[in-house]
Amino acid sequence: MPNLMKNDSDLRNCYLDQYTDIYGENIYLSSIDFVQNNSNGIEGGCELTAFYHLIKDCQNCELCKSRTNFVFGVGNPNADIVFVGEAPGKNEDLKGEPFVGRGGQLLNKILAAINLTREDIYILNVLKCRPPKNRDPLQSEIEECEPYLKHQLELIKPKLIVALGKVAGNTVLKANDTLSNLRGKVHTYQGIDLIVTYHPAALLRNPELKQPTWEDFKKIRDNYLH
Ligand code: URA
Repeated sequence: MPNLMKNDSDLRNCYLDQYTDIYGENIYLSSIDFVQNNSNGIEGGCELTAFYHLIKDCQNCELCKSRTNFVFGVGNPNADIVFVGEAPGKNEDLKGEPFVGRGGQLLNKILAAINLTREDIYILNVLKCRPPKNRDPLQSEIEECEPYLKHQLELIKPKLIVALGKVAGNTVLKANDTLSNLRGKVHTYQGIDLIVTYHPAALLRNPELKQPTWEDFKKIRDNYLH
């Protein structure tokens, strides 16, 4: 998780806000030494960090037993564009960050081609924990993890969501469609534009997919970047 907080006091204030949201005004501060001064303005990064601390020890599915790290997501908490992948792989599990392997390096190059860096965007996955041997996510795992994704998107409030691959696209859209059918349209998720493009791992397996992917990214550049 990137260091988004100014200091410990900010972090405690964030916790306090999150707990108040969830449990109401009557909160019991028995186990954590919160400060009571909670009058600071709360910005996106603060809320995301507080949310990370709330969910990082999640044990809602079996994947918690084999994970090294809970991979929450990284980037600009006020990003206009959020990229959604499928699930952490081996490198991501070890580092605790999405898309740090070969697929991530390719994604960085595609982003650079439309003048974006990882600091401009937010990037996260549908699943926060690595499925063993990178198997496909189970429906039950998606159902357990999806509320986290939904809340992250509510906090970031991007103008555009880019789903990388079929799993991400179908999860966010609650669909069961082929990538060809999902691609080439502007969908909507909670009032936010959403497009689906190829997963970087697919481009590594089949370089012919780079051209149609580039067409998708040019549309992102022309319609969502100024
Ligand atoms: N593939 C994904 O979908 N996400 C990652 O973080 C890495 C590889």
